[in-house]
Amino acid sequence: MNARPKRNIVVLGGGFGGVFSVIRLEQELRHDPSVNITLVSDQNFFLYTPFLHEVATGGIETRHIAYPLRRLRGKRHFNIQLGQVLDIDLKARRVTVSTGTLDYDYLVLALGSTTNMAELPGASSNIFTLKNLHDGIVLRNHVIRMFELADAETDTKIKKQLLTFVVVGAGHTGVQLVTELCSFVDHSLLKGYRRIDPAMVRVLLVDEASHVLSGEDMKLAAVALKHLHLQRVETRLNSRVTRIWDHGLELNHQEMETTETVVWAAGVVANSVVATLPVAKDEKGRVIVDQYLRLPEYHCVYALGDNAHFSDRKTGLVLPPRAHYAVRQPKTVATNIIGDLRGKPLRKYHFRKAAELVSLGPRNAVLNLYGLHMSGLPARFIWLVGYLSIMMGLYNRTRVLTDWMLNLIFGRDNTLLPIDRR
Ligand SMILES: Cc1cc2nc3c(=O)[nH]c(=O)nc-3n(C[C@H](O)[C@H](O)[C@H](O)COP(=O)(O)OP(=O)(O)OC[C@H]3O[C@@H](n4cnc5c(N)ncnc54)[C@H](O)[C@@H]3O)c2cc1C
Repeated sequence: MNARPKRNIVVLGGGFGGVFSVIRLEQELRHDPSVNITLVSDQNFFLYTPFLHEVATGGIETRHIAYPLRRLRGKRHFNIQLGQVLDIDLKARRVTVSTGTLDYDYLVLALGSTTNMAELPGASSNIFTLKNLHDGIVLRNHVIRMFELADAETDTKIKKQLLTFVVVGAGHTGVQLVTELCSFVDHSLLKGYRRIDPAMVRVLLVDEASHVLSGEDMKLAAVALKHLHLQRVETRLNSRVTRIWDHGLELNHQEMETTETVVWAAGVVANSVVATLPVAKDEKGRVIVDQYLRLPEYHCVYALGDNAHFSDRKTGLVLPPRAHYAVRQPKTVATNIIGDLRGKPLRKYHFRKAAELVSLGPRNAVLNLYGLHMSGLPARFIWLVGYLSIMMGLYNRTRVLTDWMLNLIFGRDNTLLPIDRR
């Protein structure tokens, strides 16, 4: 009797959607020798992005938000292939990875997103993004370098330019970054650089919208704005960046700001491999998925997290790119792949709105917990518990908690690392 041919499930992306999909699939299929599960990732670790802004501002040590994929696999039964996904041939059911090709029976797209640079009006060598671990390390180093240069500078104009930090995009990432940056400056950097007048340091948050945290509840946004001002963040709302060059930027064709630091956090678009697939997509390059999280054109291909455009039938709401959704969707994806393998009915993805939580520095946050609004230290505590609960591994949670406690006692570290920005 011929053995049944093996079925290959290939999961692309070692982030929230990919890792949680593989874990769910493995839990159900570990005793089924006819199924092969392979996780493909271009990094050998899972990156916990909700804490990335703290790496960029010296609050958390770099490796503490990275969890090694091999440690995560432990005794689980799935393959890990390190490599960059270069191409997906949907008709031939084949993925080309920099380290080989993979044929699949089921494919999960979880390659995440990249910063949307399409609206950048010009070029500059002083533009930074905050999307991966490298970005976090580079930004932290750059901020410290600006303080080193400013400390030695005698020309007041240049000194001010070095000490002006501009973040474009007042969404989650932008707001969380500026508040942590202020804390890094006030509680650590200014103590070490005595020739810098604190009044010279400026942190600007720019957005073309009329409020911060677009897409979030307006009450939450208003409270966050108040806290930003209390922390001396200068907000420039209703302001579009109309020009950008090496030493500054122009807003609304009129206001000029000279600076050596512009962090571009103005939204995300889907990973280019996904955004170029010949299937229906939205304006952000995300593939349109049906109620089962499959591509309508290819039922053996699933997409989730930042790769998927899922529209809730009842409310019409399109899921925003959030870790909370990328963590919940794998349950539906795994159930449906297994259901299809075993000839069982598929399950629809039921969207449940996640609580809105935004950190505003080490002692502050705002949250909307299903109608309950809160801010200040209690909100920060809930933020910590909420985000630590979906963090991978006791090992990393302990390291992050230790970092926070040590920062409270000793302040943040301002070692300038000998790394090349590029
Ligand atoms: C700075 C920052 C802060 C954030 N804060 C929050 C927050 O507070 N709350 C929240 O809910 N969400 C937050 N998010 C959003 C959240 O991180 C994403 O929504 C979530 O990571 C999406 O999960 P995903 O699986 O789709 O993608 P990701 O988690 O990004 O995973 C994608 C994976 O694919 C890999 N990959 C990419 N391209 C390739 C390729 N060609 N070949 C192989 N592998 C590849 C990547 O390395 C990565 O491992 C934040 C994001 C950032 C950048």
